[in-house]
Amino acid sequence: MTSDAMIDIEDIRAARRRISGTVRTTPEMVSKSLTDLHGVPVHLKLEHQQVTGSFKIRGASNAILKLSADQRGRGVVGVSTGNHGRGLAFAARQNGVRCVVCMSELVPGNKVEGIKALGAEVRIVGRSQDDAQVEVDRLVAEEGMTLIPPFDHADIIAGQGTLGLELIEQVEEIETAIVQVSGGGLIAGIALALKTANPGIRILGVSMERGAAMHASLKEKKPVLVPELSTLADSLGGGIGLDNRYTFAMARQLIDEFVLVDEAAIARAIRHAYWQERQVIEGSGSVGIAALLDGLVEPKGTTVCLLSGANIDMKLHHRIIFGENVDLEAES
Ligand SMILES: *Cc1c(COP(=O)(O)O)cnc(C)c1O
Repeated sequence: MTSDAMIDIEDIRAARRRISGTVRTTPEMVSKSLTDLHGVPVHLKLEHQQVTGSFKIRGASNAILKLSADQRGRGVVGVSTGNHGRGLAFAARQNGVRCVVCMSELVPGNKVEGIKALGAEVRIVGRSQDDAQVEVDRLVAEEGMTLIPPFDHADIIAGQGTLGLELIEQVEEIETAIVQVSGGGLIAGIALALKTANPGIRILGVSMERGAAMHASLKEKKPVLVPELSTLADSLGGGIGLDNRYTFAMARQLIDEFVLVDEAAIARAIRHAYWQERQVIEGSGSVGIAALLDGLVEPKGTTVCLLSGANIDMKLHHRIIFGENVDLEAES
């Protein structure tokens, strides 16, 4: 890692000041059931109640607010159709910045409408993510728009790290933090904030078994590709980028333990969150609870478990909470 590819705690503190007008300070609560199960206080951070239904607006807002006046005038572009796309679209509109999201023809209509409803322009190009990327590159080269990537970017990591600062204020003497991992921007930012406050805090990363790119990359000691598989934790899919600049090195340095959960455990966790905690969370938001319920992690001391997103198809949610064993692979 070169020294320019670094962020520090001051970047996260500055991000907090920058985005404070845009982003909700989400509540935390003690989970009685998980506390009883593990014999340590388990707090849930209810970040799925964030504006746009996930924490992605933290990083997106920070990145947009850091643009120069000229860059703001030319607008931003993204490729995500999921939570990053939603956060980016919302943050752009809030700041009066043009936002274009490029996607392929294969993206389902409800996702297209969701992004449009948040005020972004949608450009549908080709039949793959690579085709969409060609249009992104053109918008950047020819129209001077700024690409805002979903995780491997200093301003994004600093924005997600504001969650760590909030946790330190909300929960006393945290000893264990359980955070989901996809590209690693979320856990990198939170871990940096928490370990700056107390280097002894253990950071536990959780991904799904079906397509855990960061987990595979850490094992191989370099960024690697993994096949993308259908999973209930769909917001955790995708690679970390073979030319990863920030999150791989930070994950390597900051994650103390890393576990993977299977699809049945994710479904149980969505169910648990609904019936026991009265929270509607998407599969990706539930993997920490899944790891706790399955006993894959052994929390020591006061523990915080992040619920990172709420954007699940409500018909799918309904099937899961009434006990159906949804197998997305068989359905696709
Ligand atoms: C993006 C996302 C994650 C993972 O964040 P990374 O920074 O890519 O690791 C976790 N949960 C939800 C709901 C997300 O949208």
